[in-house]
Amino acid sequence: MPRQGLLGIDTLTRPEIEQILDRARDFQPRPDESFRKFNILTGRMVVNLFFEASTRTRTSFEIAAKHLGADAVSITAQASSVSKGESLVDTLNTLAAMRPDAIVMRHASSGAPHFLQRYLETPIINAGDGTHEHPTQALLDARTILDRGAKLEGLRVAIIGDIAHSRVARSNVYLLSKFAADIVLCGPASLLPKELAQIATGVTLTTDMNEAIRDADVIMMLRVQLERQHEAAFPASEYFRFYGLRPEHLRLAKPDLIVMHPGPINRGREISSEVADSQRSVILNQVENGISVRMAVLERVLAGEKTNGTAH
Ligand code: ASP
Repeated sequence: MPRQGLLGIDTLTRPEIEQILDRARDFQPRPDESFRKFNILTGRMVVNLFFEASTRTRTSFEIAAKHLGADAVSITAQASSVSKGESLVDTLNTLAAMRPDAIVMRHASSGAPHFLQRYLETPIINAGDGTHEHPTQALLDARTILDRGAKLEGLRVAIIGDIAHSRVARSNVYLLSKFAADIVLCGPASLLPKELAQIATGVTLTTDMNEAIRDADVIMMLRVQLERQHEAAFPASEYFRFYGLRPEHLRLAKPDLIVMHPGPINRGREISSEVADSQRSVILNQVENGISVRMAVLERVLAGEKTNGTAH
């Protein structure tokens, strides 16, 4: 029986998500201590295959693998030198020859890891595919919300920015919807596809930032994904005026509001420095939780009897 990777949140059940989030808590460091090291994955090899730029996700997966005793190797490939189809199969054959136990993969094309998984027994963990999913981001976001003592059920979560190109938004919508949260997607009309209201239950859309923020428990700000836009969807100079999060917005939300951002943040573009550095911001908690959540995911995918994944 081939091992299961992690391609998206959409296909996970609520108990599976809860299991990962609970396990991630076991891996969280105590205040003022560093992460503990484990021997759970000693002798395992994780290959990080990144076709798109990444700082935090790639580093976080590498650190998580090492904390569990696994070896981690990173390969970066310029998206421009890789075309879909044949070259992905070439990459697959190259990797199969290295016999890794898991592949952590980021690719600019939505569905690339799903395509590769059809040819590969080695489990693939999706570290972001195009505008589709970024499952470990949604899991670390959920862990960060839960750490505040909040329940996900009934929470009002406003996700604001470039919704159209955001895999972070999609994975969060899938996850939060499984926990019956109240999800508001907000951005300029050109970056807010109407179809997104249909992908899960509990989703509403608005182009009005004040309306999105009113009574919110959580605000998730998104970066404008210029690398995925073929034409300017909104003039840069006006963006901050209409969709930049500033201190005056916070008064509309619940008093114990938290502000999140998957990073990289663009100060003065989608979030002001005052908000990013305020007591409300849990942006660095998200980064820290990235490690414990990825430890939980790697353990889930890799722990147990060792088998050799081969291409067929
Ligand atoms: N780091 C996140 C991603 O890879 C968000 C972003 O890049 O804006 O999707």
